Amino acid sequence: MIPYADFATRCSEIRERIERACEAARRRPDEVGILPVTKNHPADAACYAAQYGFAAVGENRVQEALDKQPLAPPALRWELIGHLQSNKAKLAAAHFDRVQSVDSDKLLHKLDAAAAEAGKTLAILLQVNAGDDPAKFGAACAGADALLETALNCPHLKVEGLMTIAPLDQDKSVAAHAFERLRQTRDRLAASFATPLPVLSMGMTDDLEEAVKAGSTLVRIGTALFGTRPGY
Ligand SMILES: *Cc1c(COP(=O)(O)O)cnc(C)c1O
Repeated sequence: MIPYADFATRCSEIRERIERACEAARRRPDEVGILPVTKNHPADAACYAAQYGFAAVGENRVQEALDKQPLAPPALRWELIGHLQSNKAKLAAAHFDRVQSVDSDKLLHKLDAAAAEAGKTLAILLQVNAGDDPAKFGAACAGADALLETALNCPHLKVEGLMTIAPLDQDKSVAAHAFERLRQTRDRLAASFATPLPVLSMGMTDDLEEAVKAGSTLVRIGTALFGTRPGY
C-alpha cells in the first residue's frame, strides 16, 4: 500500500481533474461524487478512504468486501460494482449499501426477496452496456426499459439511476460516445417512467473527463487513488 499522505495527494489531484472537467462542461464540481474503488487492495485502502472523509467505497467481489468490512470503520458504506451472480444475491443484499451492477430480471427478483428478508430497502443502479461491448455485462440500452419496469415493481429495491463501464479503447471518443448514450438512456427512461433516476455512475481513472462532460454524477476511481492493483 502507498502511504496515507500519498493517497491524500492523489485525492486532491482527482478533485482537480474533476474541477477542470466541470469548468469545461459548465457544471458544478459538487454535482460529481467520487467512489474510491478498493478492489484488490488490502482493507487499509478502505480505511484510508474513510479517514479522508469518503462515505463509501466500491468493491468488485462480494467475498472480498465481506473479508474487509470488519477491518474498516463501521460507518463506511460499501457499494458493489462488479458482476453479481444470482446465487450471491442474498449475501450482497445483506452486506452492501448499494448494488450498482444489476443487469437482469432474475437478479432483481433475488435481490428484492433478499432485501425483504433482511428487512431493508436496497438501493440499486441498473448496469447498462452503453458501449455495446461484448466484454462487458449490462442490459442493452433498448432493454433497459423492461429492466426498469421490473425494478420499479420490486417493493424492497430503490432504483437510483444507471451505471456503465465504457469499452477499453485508446480512442477516448469511444468512451465519450458510451457515456452520452447512457445519459440519453437515463433521460428517456426518466421521462417515460416519470421517475428521476438522478445517479449516473460512469467514469474511471482513464476516462473521467469524458464522463463528467457527458453528465456523470459519480466517478469510480481505483488506480489514480491507490496505485496499480497488485496482481494486475
Ligand atoms: C476497477 C473498476 C473501477 C476503477 O477502475 P480504475 O481504472 O482503476 O479507476 C471502476 N469501475 C469498475 C466497475 C471497476 O471494476
